[in-house]
Amino acid sequence: MKHIRMPGGDEVACVGQGTWHMGDAPAHKDQEIAALREGIDRGMTLIDTAEMYGQGRAESLVGEAIAGRRDEVYLVSKVLPSNAGFEATIAACEASLKRLGTDWIDLYLLHWPGATPFEQTIAAFERLMAQGKIRQYGVSNLDTADCRAFTAAGGRAMQVNQVLYNLDQRGIEWDLLDWMAENQRVTMAYSPFDGGALLANDALARFARARDMTSAQVCLAWLLAHDHVLPIPKSATPERVAENAESAHWQLDAEDLAELDDLFAPPSGPEPLQIY
Ligand code: NAP
Repeated sequence: MKHIRMPGGDEVACVGQGTWHMGDAPAHKDQEIAALREGIDRGMTLIDTAEMYGQGRAESLVGEAIAGRRDEVYLVSKVLPSNAGFEATIAACEASLKRLGTDWIDLYLLHWPGATPFEQTIAAFERLMAQGKIRQYGVSNLDTADCRAFTAAGGRAMQVNQVLYNLDQRGIEWDLLDWMAENQRVTMAYSPFDGGALLANDALARFARARDMTSAQVCLAWLLAHDHVLPIPKSATPERVAENAESAHWQLDAEDLAELDDLFAPPSGPEPLQIY
């Protein structure tokens, strides 16, 4: 698996694993754990979770999946905006650490912007870093103006912005993606399959078949064709995780990318940031 360099110097897998909706159904637990472990075995060692997912159940599941393998994994979790005050962020992080069964989170994100001034959350992130409870911090669902405000509020160590980005949701290409690249921050692309909807697209399936790829692999290879973009697909099926990991070996050429532009048009003007 190739690596991407974070602004702070961390080298992380270029494709990660999402965990939204994992841990919700006890009957699926063994398969979900097997899927996450398959991903780690195949080099998808970045695991993205959040205190919000299943009200902590996804973090608990991740904790089980990485037990005994903590050092292999780059763990990303998120604090809810309702917990983004100074004391509340620290308490939320400590609760996440307990569920994850670890002493540290590699990258801790503000899940989306809320009413709490960024300064308070940043101060908490810095305290958590000083305590060794998180190694780095970042944000999620911030538009370009929010990113400027976050860095101006003292959040210059922001590593990533995790946002909706896939073939069918390209609004960030208007300006946010450029801001991220110019400022050497990593864009973590969530919902790379648009939650699965893209995988039912016939034109995409034809494009993929013509190249001996699957639709999922095209979705990921297209994201990987952009510098500083790191997709975090979610699959609770080990075979699909293996298929997704393969995407890191495919390279779409300029002709492929132009054909995909014809199928999925880039934005023709500014669009408000879409959030799932
Ligand atoms: P996604 O990764 O775009 O799609 C997941 C869906 O695709 C699941 O139904 C999955 O089914 C299916 N799938 C995965 N690989 C497949 C394959 N190779 N072939 C066929 N189907 C496949 O959706 P997502 O979960 O919304 O986004 C990914 C991650 O991003 C989340 O899990 C979460 O960690 C993160 N996220 C963050 C935010 C945020 O606000 N920061 C918002 C949304 C998501 P199976 O699981 O049954 O295989």
